Amino acid sequence: MISKTNFQTLEPPDGGKSIVVQEVDKLIVRMQNADREGIFISGKLIDKIKEFVRRNSLNLYDGEKNILVCCYSCLRAHIMKTSKELGLSPEIIAYLGDLLTGEIGHNGYYLDSKKIIKIS
Ligand SMILES: [Zn+2]
Repeated sequence: MISKTNFQTLEPPDGGKSIVVQEVDKLIVRMQNADREGIFISGKLIDKIKEFVRRNSLNLYDGEKNILVCCYSCLRAHIMKTSKELGLSPEIIAYLGDLLTGEIGHNGYYLDSKKIIKIS
């Protein structure tokens, strides 16, 4: 049972970043191109990123058109957690950490399909 106080801290702070899904696609291309620098990012991780975005994107109206967005902090937390679970090398994890700057999750947690997941 999560107390009300704890639950409120899980909400993204004001100014919390969301990422447009097309930008995630660009990030994926950069990850795939990292092999030019000798960094081989597992296709499994890329599949997990795509699945996460599919499960967690929201359709928002930006004043002109509908856009699909996903919480960047949650996406980043999912990528870092999944990288460790897949046993990716510390070198690759460091590369991903540099590529995806910013906050990891929200106070040690992130959301995936309405489930609250502890990062470590
Ligand atoms: Zn989030």
